[in-house]
Amino acid sequence: MKKMGLFLLLAALLLAGFRAVSESAAFPAVSQPTASPSRGQSDDSFLILVNRDNPLPEDYAPQLTWLNNGLNCVRADIYEDLSAMLTAGTEEGLRFVVASAYRDREYQQGLLEEDMAILASAGFSRDEAYREATRTTMPPGCSEHETGLALDIVSLDNQRLEEAQEETPENIWLRENCWKYGFILRYPRGKEAITGIDYEPWHFRYVGHAAAEEITRLGLTLEEYLAR
Ligand SMILES: [Zn+2]
Repeated sequence: MKKMGLFLLLAALLLAGFRAVSESAAFPAVSQPTASPSRGQSDDSFLILVNRDNPLPEDYAPQLTWLNNGLNCVRADIYEDLSAMLTAGTEEGLRFVVASAYRDREYQQGLLEEDMAILASAGFSRDEAYREATRTTMPPGCSEHETGLALDIVSLDNQRLEEAQEETPENIWLRENCWKYGFILRYPRGKEAITGIDYEPWHFRYVGHAAAEEITRLGLTLEEYLAR
């Protein structure tokens, strides 16, 4: 009888151990981040401003880690918060798709050229095509995606980058909750003149916990927050 009790206790301990391991592996990184700051730690590099007037330094080389979709990378030091956010939403039954995360300069150049080619074939001059295309696609060096801190996150049921994205439960949840994980909606409606970018309900940017809370509470953009 005593032996049986000991056996059951051991079995329970083994099962508990196994569950802890499998839960922690819910969002495994392909390459584990190293030396990443702990969650909530402030880091000025999370506040880097990148836009038309503020291109990234040419030698910016973020330490990246793969997402478990095997398709996208983000800066290693935001991985933990990103995973926590997507896990929390997924546990509420939401189905997210990361449409885009880190892009390098060459990739960004290619995206812009693709957009301009479409506009050129519709009759736009090269200058007009550039102006029109850069309303939503930044010139190389000027896209936040090159920081590794920005992601386009969409709903599995609507994977188009369009305003109707804001009607999906996934987007509603992200806009309400992203600040708790250090993210902000980077290009809000009504702030186009400040950000220089059309409203993009799908584009989220990591700025760290304290800044995300303040920016969201005060209804600011990153430009306004940094200019104060
Ligand atoms: Zn984006």
